[in-house]
Amino acid sequence: MISLQNLHSFGLPACAKSIEWVNSISQLVALFKADQSTLILGEGTNTIFVDDYLGSVGRVNLLGQEIVEHEKHYSVLAHAGENWHQLVYGLMQKGIHGLENLALIPGSVGAAPVQNIGAYGAEFADFCESVHCYDPDNNEHLILSSDECRFGYRDSVFKHVSANHLIITAVQVRLAKQWQPNLSYQGLNTLSKNVSASDIFNQVVSIRRQKLPDPVEIGNAGSFFKNPVIAKSTYQALLEERPSIPSFVVDEGWLKVPAAWLIEQCGFKGKHWEGIACHHNHPLVLTNLGNGTGQSLLTAAKEIQKTVQHTFGVHLINEVRLVGANGLVEL
Ligand code: NAP
Repeated sequence: MISLQNLHSFGLPACAKSIEWVNSISQLVALFKADQSTLILGEGTNTIFVDDYLGSVGRVNLLGQEIVEHEKHYSVLAHAGENWHQLVYGLMQKGIHGLENLALIPGSVGAAPVQNIGAYGAEFADFCESVHCYDPDNNEHLILSSDECRFGYRDSVFKHVSANHLIITAVQVRLAKQWQPNLSYQGLNTLSKNVSASDIFNQVVSIRRQKLPDPVEIGNAGSFFKNPVIAKSTYQALLEERPSIPSFVVDEGWLKVPAAWLIEQCGFKGKHWEGIACHHNHPLVLTNLGNGTGQSLLTAAKEIQKTVQHTFGVHLINEVRLVGANGLVEL
């Protein structure tokens, strides 16, 4: 068995039967030919191994970027193993703007479409032209249009059974030459209308550094739970008991409620379990104090989930991918 501890940012002690670095498409194809059940890993910033994984792991390391200039936009093809933040930064340095609100999101380019990463009023889907994939079941290479990716709030076709077997090999994004700042979000709406893309980039980086623990220093996988989207009727009932509950409109019938607020109200902010903590600044983030185990993490997560359900009647779903001995684990 080979250690996975340094291959996932939560850093729990776990091993896999084998780990292969995938540097080319032909290697990817060969890996699945040898073992159809290979688990694909990017930078491991959204996956937590809660136990030894009994199968093989393929660590995607497909690198490279190609930029094509069109009359009104740039089309950027970035391979799945590139680092997302380095892509955002590198494009900004070249004067290609648009992705700055998505600065410092941890993880690889290949992970971006899966949960349709989003932050500070922008999301991957806003820029996606297509996603290149490998379908190991049929040994086929596919290019999915943005519509075919069926993006939703932290959601896409890649999370659903219809396509969750597809391996993302590259993404193509479209960035308009006529850049417009996106300052709708709290923290950015105090910036002047004449800001540059690098001002927004710096502001987003600064907010994230203040609020979120750096996985290099404290093991974590970012937001542990999704921010729940609840029916307006459920929200109105909650509002009667808790007039201070924050919310953001999603559409006519649905509202988004910050999971961090719900968790904090239940008294978990700063709480410790054996080797696991609910972060003292941002309670949506669970951290590994260095001696955490998969079992204590699951205990902490289930306790939070159960208490929020009991207190507010709202069901929290994990945003991170939890992997146990035989694959995905449900909370
Ligand atoms: P936050 O800013 O405290 O926001 C918490 C919740 O309130 C989120 O659901 C957020 O929606 C919503 N919200 C806040 N201001 C809003 C506005 N002006 N309009 C609409 N909705 C608003 O969240 P945080 O945890 O510190 O994270 C900061 C940003 O990074 C957020 O945008 C969050 O979604 C994002 N993030 C994304 C991922 C990911 O892609 N997997 C992981 C961690 C954090 P939105 O989520 O729509 O912004």
